[in-house]
Amino acid sequence: MTAFRKDTPERRPIITQVSHYSEHRNDLKLDFKNRCGYCDGIDTWRLMSFEIDHFIPQNKNKKPFLTIKANTDYSNLVYACKSCNNSKSNKWPTNDENISNQNDEGFIDPCDKEYEKQFNRLDNGEIVAITKLGSWIYKELKLYKPQHHIIWNIEQLDILIDEINELMPTIENEKLTKQLKDRLLNVYEAYRNYTKQLGSQN
Ligand SMILES: [Zn+2]
Repeated sequence: MTAFRKDTPERRPIITQVSHYSEHRNDLKLDFKNRCGYCDGIDTWRLMSFEIDHFIPQNKNKKPFLTIKANTDYSNLVYACKSCNNSKSNKWPTNDENISNQNDEGFIDPCDKEYEKQFNRLDNGEIVAITKLGSWIYKELKLYKPQHHIIWNIEQLDILIDEINELMPTIENEKLTKQLKDRLLNVYEAYRNYTKQLGSQN
């Protein structure tokens, strides 16, 4: 078992007026450290499919819902992968926009440290809920989808490849270095092939 995520994303107190919330994309990407606020998946291989979620939804039951903040308000925005954004959609179990969860149903702002306390990760990268509220979020955000642990594992491989690359020049046997390098390149090519395929999935 390992921690669900390493860092809690932190929104800077950005109050710049923008005409459309999408203008906050670069700031969100930075504050969320290139990761989806909800599943913690990194955007490296699927940059184009990252979106902006309104934590308090703009509409609910086809009626305007968000009134306490403008829909461009930075404090209500979450950098999110397409899968989590689509799954969350306009869900908000309470009828009060100030109450994000109640009776173990609802959401926690991903920038709140409480968010990561709802989940753990198995050694194979799968997300597991460890609280009742966590179970509700897990189901509603479809955190069981395979892509969430596949991306986590690819990232671990990426780190491993970098480590091997760094170690390589320290091996003194030239022939061995060459053999290792060739094999590593094979692994890397196969790995790149795999990550490219991810781009076409939601
Ligand atoms: Zn996500």
